[in-house]
Amino acid sequence: MDTTPAELPTLSITRHPLIQHKLTLLRDRTTPTKIFKELVEEIAMLMAYEATSDLPLERANVDTPLESASGHRVAGKKLTLVPILRAGLGMVEGVLRLVPSARVGHIGLYRDHDTLEPVDYYFKVPGDVEERHFFVLDPMLATGGSAAAAVSSLKRAGASRIRFLCIVAAPEGVRRLAAAHPDVRVFCAALDRELNAHGYILPGLGDAGDRLFGTR
Ligand code: URA
Repeated sequence: MDTTPAELPTLSITRHPLIQHKLTLLRDRTTPTKIFKELVEEIAMLMAYEATSDLPLERANVDTPLESASGHRVAGKKLTLVPILRAGLGMVEGVLRLVPSARVGHIGLYRDHDTLEPVDYYFKVPGDVEERHFFVLDPMLATGGSAAAAVSSLKRAGASRIRFLCIVAAPEGVRRLAAAHPDVRVFCAALDRELNAHGYILPGLGDAGDRLFGTR
């Protein structure tokens, strides 16, 4: 794990060799849909390992076949994953492989044609929001508009412990999310160079939703 660069204090870049290897395959324009989907899941799983590394524990005793032993379990309510529709869905199964008991909410956003601001068209998360840790999932943190809006929706619902997991981030998106929500840590596998005029990340990997669902 490496936290870079200094002017993006909310960002953690996970530089594990397996993640970097898989990310390069993901960027490759010739990678087919099936493999792309599998890679997104695998990267999400490996990133979740890092993003959960400081979850609070509580003591728990168990009976082994021989005697009782003291151990630990993750404290509090179940972790909640919140994919931003639609590309965020591609990360859910990977994180669930590591945290099978996690709950899954969903956020759908569209951009209002007049205000150009993101608006929720779908928002569903489990109850007891105040007590839960939330991981918002979206493979691409591009302009940061959807990310900031999704976090705002969760906060309006009462959430305060929120992390953002993406695969590729643009500096513009990290800055915008940090300006709106400086308490939200962002985990990514790569910080790319910039956005193009259409809001795509360069070098990026193209449209993650289209590549995941074969709608290119
Ligand atoms: N969303 C994508 O899927 N790709 C980008 O490069 C930017 C936003």
